[in-house]
Amino acid sequence: MSTKDFQNNSLNIFHNKSVMPVPCSTKCGKDAVLKRPKTGDALCKECFFWAFESEIHFTIEKAKLFKPGYKVAIGASGGKDSTVLAYVLKLLNDRYNYGLDLFLLSIDEGISGYRDDSLKTVEQNRDDYKIPLKILSYKDLYGWTMDEIVEQIGRKNNCTFCGVFRRQALDRGAALLKVDAIATGHNADDIAETVIMNILRGDIARLQRCTSIITAGDDSIMRCKPLKYTYEKEIVMYAFFKKLVYFSTECKFAPNAYRGHARTYIKDLEKVRPSAIIDIIHSGETLQVKETVKMPVKRKCSFCGFVSSQELCKACILLEGLNRGLPKLGIGKTSKINKFIAEKMKNKPLVI
Ligand code: SF4
Repeated sequence: MSTKDFQNNSLNIFHNKSVMPVPCSTKCGKDAVLKRPKTGDALCKECFFWAFESEIHFTIEKAKLFKPGYKVAIGASGGKDSTVLAYVLKLLNDRYNYGLDLFLLSIDEGISGYRDDSLKTVEQNRDDYKIPLKILSYKDLYGWTMDEIVEQIGRKNNCTFCGVFRRQALDRGAALLKVDAIATGHNADDIAETVIMNILRGDIARLQRCTSIITAGDDSIMRCKPLKYTYEKEIVMYAFFKKLVYFSTECKFAPNAYRGHARTYIKDLEKVRPSAIIDIIHSGETLQVKETVKMPVKRKCSFCGFVSSQELCKACILLEGLNRGLPKLGIGKTSKINKFIAEKMKNKPLVI
């Protein structure tokens, strides 16, 4: 993993032993091995670990993410973010006596050559960290793998299906495990990119939600992002120095063109303003939603019973479209979807 990630992230590691060693900024007496992207501090390995872990602990405490006795499912993909999250949550749980019962929860989308391999990494995490693992598959839940869905719908809207199904699959897994919270590995870079994407789309209503450290709750299981303020580069550094095993191959169906633009834009900004990521997150947090913006009201899907913003949840609509050979149903015009919902509610045959 690490060599490629290091090159890609141009991390600030002090490799050259022939130049004068740089002392650790904390004055611990050791030589620095890296320059922290977040603060610019030159740190030795141990002081970096302590700073990295303490900041996540502070984030968890300040946002009151967990209560003693909570059962917490860690959304585990085998990638660097969820691997570091699982490792650090276990470590902090032991160090600060959070009293959490931790689980790994993985979703198998059925993407050959990608998820099957990354799940092996999650199984390794399960054994290394001694955290129980539950895997749910799209095939079992919905009757379709992503490979089969892409065969039907092509490569254009595959991530819409995948994202909607994954979100609900995580909820289903969390309900099965009877957990109080789902912790996901979203990091500061992910959140800053989402802020920029929402601004560029004019989707101001989503700004506050995408920067919230806690989402859902009330009628659905609470989701939280303990790595909200953690830089991706530091996650890679931490995994590298801790020798954590993770999977770093990209999904073969990933288009991500739009997010890629936001990512490049932020990387460019960072060159002239190193605090750009945190600044963007703070901007997203403080931008107010105008009163005229109508926010969706949460309710339960009339068919599957999971959380929805309309009579039928998006997963049921997409699934119905797939099963009827109308894969564009859920991504088509709202009027068609509304007509479909009305027909479905009356149990009439669908005519679009
Ligand atoms: Fe699913 Fe798209 Fe992510 Fe691949 S890139 S795992 S298809 S959401």
